[in-house]
Amino acid sequence: MTIAQDNMTHLPSAFPPLDAERKRRLIVSVADSVVSRADELTALDAAIGDGDHGHNMKRGFEAVLQDLDALSAMDLPELLKAVGTKLVMKVGGASGPLYGTLFLALGKALPAEPSRDDVAAAFASAIAAVRARGKSDAGQKTMLDVLIPSCEAFSSGGDLATVKKVAALAAEATAPMRATRGRASFLGERSIGHVDPGARSSSLMIAAVCDEMRDA
Ligand code: ADP
Ligand code: MG
Repeated sequence: MTIAQDNMTHLPSAFPPLDAERKRRLIVSVADSVVSRADELTALDAAIGDGDHGHNMKRGFEAVLQDLDALSAMDLPELLKAVGTKLVMKVGGASGPLYGTLFLALGKALPAEPSRDDVAAAFASAIAAVRARGKSDAGQKTMLDVLIPSCEAFSSGGDLATVKKVAALAAEATAPMRATRGRASFLGERSIGHVDPGARSSSLMIAAVCDEMRDA
């Protein structure tokens, strides 16, 4: 693709090179996006769960940040698998194994220097892994209600600002849903009227990746 075509379509065929500095910035911004909003995530989970989501995510991503130097030096697949393993070990709850699965599956599917199509395919296969692990799907008021539409927006050619917006709106759109998976499902009708905490944490992480890669 020429630069002119690139500008016309806003669809670069490859993301910028993922050198150690960019990997470091990606890790820090994804981690900060949830660590800095831990209180908000916990408040959302207090309304329809057990009030630990922010705490869980903070513990997991603080452990990721402790390995920042080593992680930044890894190639992208190894980095993602290492983050996934860390999240499985440290986050706990339902979201730990599910986010762990997401990152592990991304690490298995992505090459070291992915094209846009590689990212779209890996995102879709990582979501399939989360669905299998959670025995869950769209419409059940979970993280999948953000991950699935965000992946669709990206795969259909949306630019990263659009993907970020889709993710934020999709998180908000979980409020009127009735939860049928996860702890919130125990509340039945009373789960209606609150944003799902995992949907919010997914939208925060997607926003962080979009901001970081858009500025590239
Ligand atoms: P727990 O519910 O065990 O306390 P967390 O509070 O850390 O775990 O995470 C809750 C979030 O996990 C929910 O808001 C929801 O988005 C997500 N979640 C729970 N169960 C599932 C599932 N089966 N499939 C997909 N996401 C789920
Ligand atoms: Mg919880």
